[in-house]
Order: sequence, then C-alpha cells, then structure tokens
Amino acid sequence: MPHRSVEVVVVGGGAAGFFGAITCAERYPHCRVTILEKTGRVLSKVRVSGGGRCNLTHDCLEPRRLVQFYPRGGKALLGPFHRFGPTETMDWFERRGVPLVTLPDGCVFPKSDRSQTVIDCLTGAARAAGVAVQTGVPIHSITAEPSSRFAIDSDDGERILCDRLLLATGSSPQGYEWARSLGHAVEPPVPSLFTFTVAGEGLKGLSGITVDKVTLSLPGTDLRQTGTLLITHGGLSGPAVLLLSSWGARTLHDRGYRSPLEIDWLGWGAAQTEESLRGHKSAHPRTNVVSHPLFGLPRRLWERLAAEAGVKGDLRWADISNQQIKRFTEKLSSDRQEISGKSEFKEEFVTCGGVRLDEIDFKTLRSKVHPALFFAGEILDVDGVTGGFNLQNAWTTGFLAGEGMGESRAG
Ligand SMILES: Cc1cc2nc3c(=O)[nH]c(=O)nc-3n(C[C@H](O)[C@H](O)[C@H](O)COP(=O)(O)OP(=O)(O)OC[C@H]3O[C@@H](n4cnc5c(N)ncnc54)[C@H](O)[C@@H]3O)c2cc1C
Repeated sequence: MPHRSVEVVVVGGGAAGFFGAITCAERYPHCRVTILEKTGRVLSKVRVSGGGRCNLTHDCLEPRRLVQFYPRGGKALLGPFHRFGPTETMDWFERRGVPLVTLPDGCVFPKSDRSQTVIDCLTGAARAAGVAVQTGVPIHSITAEPSSRFAIDSDDGERILCDRLLLATGSSPQGYEWARSLGHAVEPPVPSLFTFTVAGEGLKGLSGITVDKVTLSLPGTDLRQTGTLLITHGGLSGPAVLLLSSWGARTLHDRGYRSPLEIDWLGWGAAQTEESLRGHKSAHPRTNVVSHPLFGLPRRLWERLAAEAGVKGDLRWADISNQQIKRFTEKLSSDRQEISGKSEFKEEFVTCGGVRLDEIDFKTLRSKVHPALFFAGEILDVDGVTGGFNLQNAWTTGFLAGEGMGESRAG
C-alpha cells in the first residue's frame, strides 16, 4: 500500500530551514515539504553573511576540535558533526556546482566570493526537490492538535495543518514565543559577537593601531582570550574582542555592557614581562627607553604606556628605577580599561540563548516534548565564534532535522 503523504512545514526560510526542507524532500518522497517565510525574501542572512561573501563553514574537520569554537552548544553538536560536519557540507555544495576556497585562516567561501552563488544553489535545490516556498506569510499562531498534528494559522485567516513542524526562525522573538507555547524552555536571548566601546582617555589618539597576541580578560571572571586587537575610534575590535564578546556574551549582558577590562599587551603575563624589561636594561643600558619601542609594540602605544607608567623624556634603561620597572610591567601586562558599551560588528553577529538543548534529541533534532516538532539553526541555544561556525550549525542541524522528519514515525 502506498504511503500516505506526510505534510512537513518548515517555518523560516533561512539557512537551517532550507537545509532541513531540501534534505527531507530529496530523501523522503513521501514527505510534502513547504517553507513558510515571514518576509518577502528568503535567505537574507546568508546574503549579508561574511560581508556579502558568505563564510559558509570552517576547514576544521575534526569534530572534537570543531566543537571548541562554540561557546554554547558545542557538546550537543559533537554527535551531529560526526554525521554531517564541514566535510559533508563542502562536499554538498561542491557536488551541486558551488566551487569553494579555503583561506589560510580556515574560513571557507564560495570561489565566486558572492553569497548569491550559495543562495542560487539552495533555492535551485529546493525547487528541484519539489519544496514549496511561500514568502510574505504572516503566521499568527501555531498550535499542537490532539492528533499530534500542528495547526498554523495566518493573520488572514488561512489554516495549514502539518504532520511534522520544523521551527527554524533564527533569533526571531516570535519563534522563541512559539517554542515556549509548545512547551519548551528558552534561554534568554542576548547578543554575541560585538565590539567594545571604551570610556576615558586611555586609548585616545591610538586609533588604527593593531597588536598581535594580546590577552584580554574580564576581572572577576575566568574569561580570557588571546588574539589580535584593533584599537578603533572610541573602542576596541579585532579577533580578541570578538572572541571575548562571544565567550562572555552572558556575563557582559549581565554587567550591562559596563565592565573593567584588563589588557596584557604582550600576552606574556607579569613575570615574563618584568624579566624581559630587566633583561633589556642589562643588555642595552645606554638606549633611551621611550624612543625605542620593544617587543614589536607600535611606537604610539609604547610611548603612551611608558608615559602612564611614569617613564618619560630621555631616560635611559641604565637609569630606570625598580619602581618604574614595576609600574611599566603593570601597564604592559595588566592595563585596565573600562568597557562602556557595545557596538555592532558588521561582518557577522549571532544570538546567544534560545531553545534549551536538554529538551532536544540531537540525533534527529526532534523535540523531547512533542514528537512531531523539530528545531534547527540559531533558534537553538547554540552559537559559535566568527569564522563560518554559525552557518555550519545551521547546515548540520538543518540536515539532521530534515532526516529526522522523514524518518520519524510520530503522528
Ligand atoms: C551580518 C551577518 C553576517 C553573518 N556572517 C556569517 C558568516 O559569514 N558565517 C557564518 O557562519 N555565520 C554568519 N552569520 C550568522 C549566520 O548568518 C546565522 O547564524 C545563520 O544564518 C542562522 O541561520 P538560521 O536559518 O537559523 O536563521 P536565519 O538565517 O535568521 O533564518 C531565519 C528565517 O526565519 C524567518 N522568520 C523569522 N520569524 C519568522 C516568522 N514568525 N514566520 C516565518 N518566518 C520567520 C526569517 O525571516 C529568516 O528568513 C552572520 C550573521 C549576520 C547577521
């Protein structure tokens, strides 16, 4: 006897929704798949991702290493990455005519350098698999029916019934609200991946300076990150800041984005910094301290730190006092600044928080609360640092949800 067709609705036409819909429609011919998208345009975030170039994954092929790039959700993603990780993702796109390039830092982009190539591939694959895509659909409510089906009611009075529902609404408040109304707990959403504004005069006149291997830490926590730091007009940016904003997303939110920040400009710690200064004093006693920047630090920054440590004028290393060495060490290794707010990082941002992970079966991305309900992408309490990890979460969870919906016998 032929299968009764299974009605599958995917709410949200983003990366995760498309991947779930395509996978389900391609692999399970008994499923009739529809994507319902609120806005007039699908895949808008993919379009702007990576500055319009779409950093679609990262060349980190070992799941145990890959999960370390996720401040939230890494543990839950370990199993899924074994089944559908960056290797499978790259293969998926390349087999469908999207050649990729991997940059030296591991970020993977389409060779075309245009996110449109990725969008064309996804929309083409959806069309070929028979996925119906409806845009501009204003959903009013989603309710679970006693038959374990879902009823989706739109603002204009239309009702759609489905046997499987995939919520892939990204960081949309309405998506979280539906998850709650269907019985799920949601970790409060807060921003991740942002840059810092910095109060005070400390960094004034230093904008444009970049320093490698700086260690940033948030006093009172064990949050610390090492990487390149960029001093901007009125604040701090660069990989070290983005990493700290990601790992510290919740702490910084709880502190109202006002927090002391400690900068170890060399990333060496106090003991090694002091030893290096003393070593220099012995080796080069006749050189001028201020006018010969050391350890590769930019001149403007070195002069500023020296001045703040009370080291001025034409002081030679031979004449620097013990106390000045101590103060200079402190400035170099634990310079205090005040974060006074956050600003947007335009290349990529993501939401920390979302549907609680212990209520999801990560083999199928199926809800443990409702057997016909699935989640994928950013709606989950999963987020990664910059570098293609957030889209990888969308591909991986979307793919497994697509399989899960096709295979599940609920309803
Ligand atoms: C500027 C920017 C650049 C980025 N660059 C990168 C990058 O280069 N690499 C990377 O890995 N990550 C990047 N990210 C993050 C990445 O884009 C997201 O993590 C990813 O797109 C999440 O996919 P998703 O499908 O879960 O959610 P989304 O892409 O947000 O898709 C959700 C979809 O659901 C729709 N929707 C919402 N509410 C409703 C509703 N009520 N009814 C129907 N539909 C609804 C939305 O309109 C949207 O189309 C970037 C993010 C931003 C903002």
